[in-house]
Amino acid sequence: MKRLPRFTIGVGDRFTQEGEAQLSAVKAAADRGIALSPVWNKSNREHTIVGTKPQSLRDEADAAVQALGWTAPYFVDADHINLNTVDGFIACSDFFTIDVADYTGKAPAPEVRAAFLEKHAAIIGAHTLPLFDEPLVITREDLERTADKFLWAMSEAGRIHRHIASKKDPASFAIEVSVDETDTPQTPAELLLILAMIADEGIPAQTVAPKFTGRFNKGVDYVGDLAAFEREFDADLAVISFAIRNFGLPENLKISVHSGSDKFSLYPIIRRLIAKHDAGLHLKTAGTTWLEEVAGLAQAGGDALEIARDIYATALPRAEELIKPYAPVVDINVPELPSAETVHNWTSEQFLAALDHNQSCPDYNPQLRQFIHVSFKIAAEMGPRFSEALVKHRAVIAGRVRDNLLKKHIEPLFV
Ligand SMILES: [Zn+2]
Repeated sequence: MKRLPRFTIGVGDRFTQEGEAQLSAVKAAADRGIALSPVWNKSNREHTIVGTKPQSLRDEADAAVQALGWTAPYFVDADHINLNTVDGFIACSDFFTIDVADYTGKAPAPEVRAAFLEKHAAIIGAHTLPLFDEPLVITREDLERTADKFLWAMSEAGRIHRHIASKKDPASFAIEVSVDETDTPQTPAELLLILAMIADEGIPAQTVAPKFTGRFNKGVDYVGDLAAFEREFDADLAVISFAIRNFGLPENLKISVHSGSDKFSLYPIIRRLIAKHDAGLHLKTAGTTWLEEVAGLAQAGGDALEIARDIYATALPRAEELIKPYAPVVDINVPELPSAETVHNWTSEQFLAALDHNQSCPDYNPQLRQFIHVSFKIAAEMGPRFSEALVKHRAVIAGRVRDNLLKKHIEPLFV
């Protein structure tokens, strides 16, 4: 496996213009002694919507690294791939997020199930987890239920991993297994058993992305019970330490937080618990860069503000289509969004007041922010009008992209 550093931040870039701005944020942290590595990630869904190819992300990352003289590790992530989509990513990626959420709940073959239950019979009982104050109890029913829900999916993850490893030197890439896009959150007990399955498949996973309790909506703060999240995250980190010791998984295995941008109320909790467990972290923040592009255009005023308004006006009648692929990770009530006419009359200040993630601003509109988050397809359809504006207003946009990553994400978590 290609070793992941302790701390990594997932940065994505739908329109491949902000690689240098993103890296400059990570570099500013490095200059202050924080060893953080960027992971440029882009899913097949995003490539398809924007009309880009996986190689474009590799080119962007390499160019940014070259331009800024970055010498520490960095990665290009084939994000949320499965067996149907991975092939186009293999040559140009060195990080693979294997997403098997769609296979959860598919019943395993009886003999596979029986073998798993027999192999792990000893896990039934109470376990003392490292640095966690309560024993983790696993019952026979937990073992059976988790096998029924996840064993097929983890066998599929094994197939995908072997497929990649048959085409690429296993020392040249890192693996994440993600189950975050499922219907219900995984309990710490389920996470432990999922890690047992990952180990049984021989997947050298260095990060795992569970679904946590509460809502991780795109581009906005966490919605849920902070105390419940804290308890679960604490237990999950303890489970990972336990799994490393007991299942022979890579000793740098860490947790991955998807839809991790803008979860400002969680960052102090995550930071505290990462320190407590001496754990690593992978935090994904991809879509927040696109929001800064729209905000930058709105801020620039004139023709650029007109583009930002037109994106909204074109997107609104197509809300259903745009929201659909992201339905599990947004909470948008379309009739509550401002009308296109209202937005058409907005000044730069009004647009930014609604869009900027500033919870103390009375005009901040989290529904509008989520809606613009999922509306990048409209900008892709605008073609050169949008992409040329990104170039023309590079200075204001790049400054926003960098500040957003550095001040709102990297500093609260890592510095
Ligand atoms: Zn995800």
